Amino acid sequence: MKYVGAHVSASGGVENAPVNAHAIGAKAFGLFTKNQRQWVAAPLTEGSIEAFRNRCEKYGYDPRHILPHASYLINLGHPEGEALEKSRAAFLDEMARCEQLGLDRLNFHPGSSLGKIGDEECMNIIAESINVAIERTTYAIAVIENTSGQGNNLGYTFEQLAYIIGRVKDKSRVGVCIDTCHAYTAGYDITSKEAYDETWEKFDRIIGFKYLRGLHLNDSKKELGSRVDRHHSIGQGLIGIEPFRWIMNDSRFDDIPLILETIDESIWAEEIRLLYSLIG
Ligand SMILES: [Zn+2]
Ligand SMILES: [Zn+2]
Repeated sequence: MKYVGAHVSASGGVENAPVNAHAIGAKAFGLFTKNQRQWVAAPLTEGSIEAFRNRCEKYGYDPRHILPHASYLINLGHPEGEALEKSRAAFLDEMARCEQLGLDRLNFHPGSSLGKIGDEECMNIIAESINVAIERTTYAIAVIENTSGQGNNLGYTFEQLAYIIGRVKDKSRVGVCIDTCHAYTAGYDITSKEAYDETWEKFDRIIGFKYLRGLHLNDSKKELGSRVDRHHSIGQGLIGIEPFRWIMNDSRFDDIPLILETIDESIWAEEIRLLYSLIG
């Protein structure tokens, strides 16, 4: 079974996210558990936590189909000590917020070397950042999102993601989320059936499907291998509709959150219906 949704607004409180997801016919959703553009947020209130849990139950959202996204400010591979500590503290806070909400995974962008250190050194720092957060929390899985490789952002190859996972001590607490737009612009073609099969075969060989904790379903405005991250609505970009048909009919993507981060939220309900109509 497929669980498709979108990254919905949590403005006014996290408890509004399940309501917003239900309103567009989503069976899964993504959210920010705090303002993604601020370093520090007020702790979640008991009332907010309870309302979130109650509404998820009311609308039938299982934590396995909810994929929170960490703040864009966080850089777990930051080359400088003080800034790294700030990112690690913010990430730990987000992991803890997820656990307060009963959510078992947190999606985040791995980090950037800022061009100041080598890729391997940066990935070692990222892995250590994950280890630190895991040690101080109970069960939430750190879900590394692949990037398009824009600037000095790491995690745009399956090898890099595997390298980071390889250095995480508790493998049961680490996973990956593949963003279709990021994969495509990082150079992983999925637009012919042959290329699609080859890309996912590579993914399985280098990382392994057992680590896959979600997908971000986005079409792309930019070309294959351009290393530029510009999302587009499903079927309107250079990926096109067919690869999403293959995904919707591929049992390897059953029972994980499949989250739209497409550019026109006014058509999310339509896009969700479109994706489900591709089954069969
Ligand atoms: Zn992301
Ligand atoms: Zn994404």
